[in-house]
Amino acid sequence: MEAKMHLWLKPVLAQEIVAYARAAQPNECCGVILGHEDTAEQIMPVPNIADEPKYNYQMDEKILLKALYQAEHMQLEVIGFYHSHPRTDPIPSPTDTRLANYPDVAYVIAGLRNGEAHLAAWSIKRDQVKPIELVVSATKPIIEKTQLTIVQKRAIIASAIIAFIFMLVLSLSLLPPAPIIPLH
Ligand SMILES: [Zn+2]
Repeated sequence: MEAKMHLWLKPVLAQEIVAYARAAQPNECCGVILGHEDTAEQIMPVPNIADEPKYNYQMDEKILLKALYQAEHMQLEVIGFYHSHPRTDPIPSPTDTRLANYPDVAYVIAGLRNGEAHLAAWSIKRDQVKPIELVVSATKPIIEKTQLTIVQKRAIIASAIIAFIFMLVLSLSLLPPAPIIPLH
């Protein structure tokens, strides 16, 4: 399985994660996202048994195992994990990064800074944290979107190269004229 480029959540699933995050306050909540590839089908909450659940999360392994067993029964895969940041932005903490053991899943964080909910998805491979495009929509996003983004990226790179060449030509033309060497 390749690392994810985007994750599609139906609004009802996004709302579910936010509802769990709010219900767990001041603690962090956590759980599993089940589905296929980039498409989430179901959210499964797992109790947070961390020593300091206000600042960390640790999934209850027994319940997690049960959830995974249930998922297999429903022919769904674990495509991600979610947890909440009750007071801060949805950005992985150093602990989140250190404890992320699954390079091919999406790590969704619900941030509740100032009580306002923000969701973000991340891919965490060893110590490399990269954003995953999180699509919250009722209908499946069009896959061409990713290809368009590549085209857009190429266009941006091309225009940057052109701008660089232009700057180079400009700076060369702005150089002072060569000094006249007097001849004896
Ligand atoms: Zn966290």
